[in-house]
Order: sequence, then C-alpha cells, then structure tokens
Amino acid sequence: MEYILECTNGKARAGVISTDHGKFLTPSFMPVGTQGTVKAILQRDIKEIGAEIILSNTYHLYLRPGTDILYQAGGLHKFMNWQLPILTDSGGYQVFSLTDLRKIEEEGVQFKSHLDGSTHMFTPEKVIDIQRMIGSDIMMVLDECPPFPATKEYAENSNNLSMRWAERCLNHFNKTKNAYEHSQALFGIVQGGIYPYIREHSASTLTQMNFDGYGIGGLAVGEPAEQMYEMIEVCTETLPTLKPRYLMGVGTPQNILEAIERGVDMFDCVLPTRNGRNAQFFTKFGVINITNNKYKNDFSPVDSSCDCYTCKNFTRAYIRHLFVAKEVLGLELATIHNLYYYQWLVHSARYQIIEENFSNWKKEQLQNLDGDVNRNS
Ligand SMILES: [Zn+2]
Repeated sequence: MEYILECTNGKARAGVISTDHGKFLTPSFMPVGTQGTVKAILQRDIKEIGAEIILSNTYHLYLRPGTDILYQAGGLHKFMNWQLPILTDSGGYQVFSLTDLRKIEEEGVQFKSHLDGSTHMFTPEKVIDIQRMIGSDIMMVLDECPPFPATKEYAENSNNLSMRWAERCLNHFNKTKNAYEHSQALFGIVQGGIYPYIREHSASTLTQMNFDGYGIGGLAVGEPAEQMYEMIEVCTETLPTLKPRYLMGVGTPQNILEAIERGVDMFDCVLPTRNGRNAQFFTKFGVINITNNKYKNDFSPVDSSCDCYTCKNFTRAYIRHLFVAKEVLGLELATIHNLYYYQWLVHSARYQIIEENFSNWKKEQLQNLDGDVNRNS
C-alpha cells in the first residue's frame, strides 16, 4: 500500500492510496459492508455511485460464513465479487458493543457469539490470522474500545493494553504471509478516550511502531461533538504527515467536514445505509424523512441537485409510497441516494482542497445543512 499526499489546504488533505486492488482518492468514504454485502445495494451500483473502497467486519465474517469458507472461496474479494479495495476492522469494536459476556485479559478478549452463544477468544495474533484469510487490503489491529464515560485511570490502562496488543499485531503481521496473491497493509488504532495526553501518548507510541496508516478509534461514542473534534486534532497533530489517518465509524456530514478540516483522510459509517433503510434521506440541505405526509403528492425528486439514479428517476411521492407499502425497492433507492450523497460530500471536499477553497466551502455546506430542509423543493 502506498499513500501520496497530493496537497493540503490548511490542515485538510487531498491524497491517493494505492493497493493491489486499485487506487482510491482521499478524503474517502467507505460504505459499510458488515456481512460481505453493503445492505440493499448491488456491488455494481456501489461502484456506480463512486465508492472506491468498502469496509467489512472481521467479527461478523469470522462467525459467519467463517474463515474456512472464505479461504476456499479465495478470499472476500472473490467471495462477494468486489475487485476494488476492502478494509476490515479487527472485530474489537463488535466484541465490545455486541456481546454481553466478555472477559478482557492480557492475552486477548473472550466473548460469546451474539448468534448462538458459543465461546470464542480474539487475541492480537488471531485477528491478524482471520484478516489474512479474509484477504482485506487494509487490516486493523485489535484494540479495546473503552466505554463512555471512562475514568482517566480506565482510559489510560485500556490504552496501554491496546498499545501492547498493537505491537503483538504488528509482530505477527510481519511474521505471517498474505494468504492470496495481493499484499495487505496494517493500521494501528489511536485510543485514549477524551483525554488529550492519553491520545497524544497513544498516537506517538503507534507512530514509533511505524504502521502503514492510523485509525482514530473510540470517538462518537456519546461525547459532545466539540470534544470529539478536539481529540481528532490532538491525534492528527501527533500522527506522521505522510501516512493516512482514518476516523473510525464517524459520522454525520457535519462530523466528516469538521474532521477533514482537521486532517482526516478516511471515513466509514453506517448512517447513510442504516438511516436510509429507516426512510431518512441525506441532502445538502439536511435530512428528510420521506414517509412524512407532506410528500404524499410531491412529484419532485428527493434532491433536485442530486445526480444519483434515485433522484434522476423517481419522485418523493413514489419513494414515500414504497416505504409506506414496505416494498424493498424503497430500501434500495434510499441506499443508492444516501451513499451517492456521502460520496459527493468527500469528492467535493477533495476538489475544494485542491482549489484551496475548503474552509469557505465547508462554511457554506454547514449553513445549508442547518437551514430549512425544504428550501430546495
Ligand atoms: Zn439522489
């Protein structure tokens, strides 16, 4: 994997990341394909809306279909027929958020499957082995995601454990080979809760280990947005300039713009897909709920300035009807539009960074997002 920083505008960055499955431009937004599928959209259409990389989840793929099936298929790219880059998380976040019964110890974390209650253990070495079998282009280290709020003492001990796990992941990564013909990269993950000095320590410890890139984890877990932005700033100021930074699991369009301004390059989030399936449509002028009665006879597109397949071909009234009638096409049209909007957001941000106009453009976007949602109708 190679990262090239093309240009900066303030702290905002435009770059390009090359993998054996192709390049992607940054800032980049990765649609979430938890179970080896981005819900309610075809692989063909993910490409069509302009996504250049997707994210999938180690925890879910490990439990189902299991690494033996993925290995027999020749890896996740072949299994799901997606030939562009894939990033996988380490499974840590799901273990801490989805499973009730878990035991954290130095060796790793023991947990019970949310599917059938069976007992499993994730160690730093094991999550590398699993991600080797998945064959993702970018793998993540195992980390502990401390709950919010966490005391300073908890956050510090937890981060120290995550740093020891990161080093074990890196050692195992360096000792093991790719399972398939393409190469894989490994990112460390900065933790430290809402404590700047722990974040700084975490970022500088990982920098010394020299990863291919760096995730910023444990944010958007309930802390105020301003605190999240402050933590992002501490991280990006400490992390090396010539490596990509990935803000994990964040967020709203506003969060993404603020993070880009502070030097973040990569994002993933379930909001556009999950909220879309709940009738929430993201637009440049804020979110609309398409099931609202006022759209019953509104024969305009969801967003008249949007060039996506949904907006080019269907009206608010028709999409509202699909949701009210619980037709699956509604979910698909919402997913296409929302992912297209998120791609538009990061692609436009990149263009504005190159044009050295990011800050002005961002201000304008934030004003639009806070304004009257029906202005464009
Ligand atoms: Zn659209």
